[in-house]
Amino acid sequence: MNHELECPNCDAIGTLTPSLYASDFKHGNGSVHVVGLECFICSQCGADPVFADQARRNHARITDARRRAEGLLTGAEIRALREGLGMTQAEAGELIGGGPMAFSKYERGEVTQSAGIDNFLRVLAVYPFIVDTLRGWQTNGSAAPGAGEYQTVAQTAPVRRSVARRLLAGTHNVILPDCWKTAA
Ligand SMILES: [Zn+2]
Repeated sequence: MNHELECPNCDAIGTLTPSLYASDFKHGNGSVHVVGLECFICSQCGADPVFADQARRNHARITDARRRAEGLLTGAEIRALREGLGMTQAEAGELIGGGPMAFSKYERGEVTQSAGIDNFLRVLAVYPFIVDTLRGWQTNGSAAPGAGEYQTVAQTAPVRRSVARRLLAGTHNVILPDCWKTAA
């Protein structure tokens, strides 16, 4: 680790001290302001190198700032939610989608989850028993209901529909099926 504290700019003469900085990053049509980004400052030449482990953490902070701007869960929130549901990263990727590496990437801020994955995680947080339903489907693939059966459930369960509408109303990018919109 010692070699990391030698300034790459002035040939190891300067001493590097950890420092923090803030910056703006393009996001959609606007930008996000991110604080707490890590770098080093050289005592001699003023260079501010960022080493690989700092760059990874910085990337995660920037990803989280963009996720907040989009109304999406952050990496730490996804981890807490997944652990609360008793799933390993690999199992979450298998049951919810994305594959065995997906949740590792979401939680480390390497990749941003889709709005669909984000919504479904929030639904699981409110109805954790669905995780067991998914486990059952994975064990016995034929147990998953067909599209016609989903429609029947939606049309014959007004109470659940209104709960689902309230639940989803606060989230983003949710398009409710037509059969939910007119029900009491
Ligand atoms: Zn230097």
